[in-house]
Amino acid sequence: MGPLWIALGAAAAGGIALAAIFAAARSRRERRRAALRAAPFPDEWRRIIEGTTPLYRRIPPELKRELHGHMHVFLAEKKFVGCRGRTIDDEVRLTIAAQACVLLLNRPPRYYPTLDEIFVHPTSYVRTSRVASDEFGPALGDLIEEEDSFAGESWERGGVVLAWDEVLESGYGDGYNVVLHEFAHQLDQGGEGAHAMERDFADWARVFQEEYSRFKKAVRRGKRTAMDEYGATDPAEFFAVATEHFFETPGRMRAKHPELYKALRDYYRLDPAAWD
Ligand SMILES: [Zn+2]
Repeated sequence: MGPLWIALGAAAAGGIALAAIFAAARSRRERRRAALRAAPFPDEWRRIIEGTTPLYRRIPPELKRELHGHMHVFLAEKKFVGCRGRTIDDEVRLTIAAQACVLLLNRPPRYYPTLDEIFVHPTSYVRTSRVASDEFGPALGDLIEEEDSFAGESWERGGVVLAWDEVLESGYGDGYNVVLHEFAHQLDQGGEGAHAMERDFADWARVFQEEYSRFKKAVRRGKRTAMDEYGATDPAEFFAVATEHFFETPGRMRAKHPELYKALRDYYRLDPAAWD
C-alpha cells in the first residue's frame, strides 16, 4: 500500500471510530432519557401545574403521563436563568416545562436540540436598539434609539426569553400563549417546524401559503380574524401564532380554518379540539 492508501485507510478508520463514539454517546443519552422519563412524577408538581397552567388541565390522562416523562428530561437538560430579580423556583420551571413539552407529545422527541437556556424576566422587558431613521427630512438615515417591548423571544441558537407575567397570562382559551409561541419558533429554528411540514406533508406548503395570504389580506383590510393579527407579520410568526390558537382555541380554529387545523393536527399528531 502506498502512503496515499495508508492515509485514506487511516482516515476511514478514524471516521468509523468517530461514528462509533457518536453512536455510543447517543445511546448513552437515550438510556439516560428513558430512565428520566420513567421516574415518578411528584404530586406536588402536579398541583403546581394545575394551579398555573389551564392548558395542562385539558390534556387527556394518557397524554399527561407522556408529558410528565418529557418534562423530567426537559428539566434535567435545560438551564433556567432568572433575570432582573426574578428567582427560579419550581413554579417557574414546571409551568414553562409543561407547556414547552406539549409540543413534543406523540412523536419521537428531540427536546429542542439547539436550546440550552431559558431566561425568565419578571415582566415584559424593553430593549433599546439604535436603528437608522426612516423618516424624511433631516433625520433620514440618522441613528435613532428605538424601544421595543417583549413578552418573549426565541433565539436561533441557545436561548428562549420569557416574561413571567406574560407566562401567567397564557392559556386562558383566548388564543394567547407566549410559551407555546416561543417554543413553536424553537421547533422551526431546530428544523422541525414549518419547513419540516413542507417536507413531510405534501399538502402543507399549499395550505400554509393559502391560509397565510388570506390571513394577511384580512388583517390588512381590518377584518375581524379568528387568530391574533400578529401572525400576519411573516410566515414564522404565522406558524407560531397558529400553534397558539391550535392549542388554545382549537374548536374555533377548526371551524374557521379547517384546513389549517387539519395540517397542524397531522403535524403535532394531536387533536386538541377533541380534548374539551
Ligand atoms: Zn414570534
